[in-house]
Amino acid sequence: MEKIPSVEIQSPPLPSDGKFHVKLVEGRFQNLRRLTSWPLILLFFVMVWIQPDGQPWLLFSFEQRTIFLFGKPLSWHDLPLLSGLMITGGGLLFFLSVGWGRVWCGFACPQSIWTWIFIRIEQWTEGRAQERAKTDQQLFEGTRFFQRGLKHILWLIVAGMTAATFTGYFIPIRDITADLLALQMSPALSAWLVIMTALTYLNAGLVREKICLHACPYSRFQSVMFDSNTRTVSYDAERGEPRAKRRSSDVNSGDCVDCDLCVQVCPTGIDIRDGLQAACIDCAACIDACDSVMDKLQRPKGLIGFRSEAELSNQHNVVIRPKLMGYALVVLSSVLAVTYGFTDTTELLVEIRRDRTTLFTELDDKTICNNYLVKVESFIPSQTMTEISVSGQGRYELFGPRQIDLKQDNSTWLPYRVCTSDLQLARTELEFNFTKPGSVVSKKTTFITASI
Ligand code: SF4
Ligand code: SF4
Repeated sequence: MEKIPSVEIQSPPLPSDGKFHVKLVEGRFQNLRRLTSWPLILLFFVMVWIQPDGQPWLLFSFEQRTIFLFGKPLSWHDLPLLSGLMITGGGLLFFLSVGWGRVWCGFACPQSIWTWIFIRIEQWTEGRAQERAKTDQQLFEGTRFFQRGLKHILWLIVAGMTAATFTGYFIPIRDITADLLALQMSPALSAWLVIMTALTYLNAGLVREKICLHACPYSRFQSVMFDSNTRTVSYDAERGEPRAKRRSSDVNSGDCVDCDLCVQVCPTGIDIRDGLQAACIDCAACIDACDSVMDKLQRPKGLIGFRSEAELSNQHNVVIRPKLMGYALVVLSSVLAVTYGFTDTTELLVEIRRDRTTLFTELDDKTICNNYLVKVESFIPSQTMTEISVSGQGRYELFGPRQIDLKQDNSTWLPYRVCTSDLQLARTELEFNFTKPGSVVSKKTTFITASI
């Protein structure tokens, strides 16, 4: 496959104060980002509170050793389902990357979404990017101190809410809120919330694009994922060059008027006119910015747009290609596997062990008995009792506790003896049945009546 040539480019020059003051821009891609990011933000903050029938909708409870996924309790033995979900997510990410570059980063990644929220707060409290750049050094002058103080307070509030909500996916959010309101948090929970708040504040408020530039492994992957048919944010150099300021432009000038707006709006501070770069998160802010300039100049939009290398060199863009179809297949198969796995989970985890010291015991009246050890674990907190019985080909009698207290006995092996005088084959199938309101869970084992 043809490789995209790589060219050494200069790092973007940092402003004198070492900070990018990202200018916010409106446009069709900004609207699209609102459409993707607001539902995701809403889901993040709301899902943790949803409790249909008193059971959490999504909770990874270490305390109860249970995962609640879409309201269904799963045991830690169902963890492969989560791996399946992660494979689906990974496959989808790779599928999107091959087709449309890093659109996940620009439109749905939590790092980007929270950074945009923090930039909005910054603009609301301290003014637009130009104003911020001018007054950034005036820390204690006029209203500047209060504006900056308010910005940091709001950032900390959003960071704190994010930390508490994130923790609510591991510890019930109602417990966290009650502890917070009563100021009765454990030292461990307090420390965890402080650390999570600080990390969110640092990531979205202070470090921002440096995470995307230096820490995110996904940006390193992209050069492997992309091919010459991947549509990603690109500058049409053929149309734009030679660039010239509007006043000095002539018939030979391209459409780029060198206004730098595409650089000012870039959250990673790069100049897309330098070509495809690992730092570009495909947020399309530069497309909105450049389109607004082209609109004002009454020139066609799209000097910067989602295009592939093939399209830029006037070749046919191949949409359906093996790599893209391969990832689509991975996503489809993992969705099917997870769906099947999801229908095949159990609310009671039952383990049965035969007594390995004696195969069977024969009593004086020719009754044959087998000994078993039984462990039952429930993954529904409201479920407290189960009744136990046995069935098979013939009449069996069960000796041992008929009711199991699931609250107490979930880590204890309980001894049982099963006896029959209704002798069948040397080795038959026996079922232990665990009855709880509304359902029966059965587990098979063997009953041995004679040495083979
Ligand atoms: S916004 Fe458009 S016209 Fe302005 S510098 Fe960037 S590419 Fe050129
Ligand atoms: S170059 Fe454009 S698409 Fe890439 S990160 Fe900057 S603004 Fe976003």
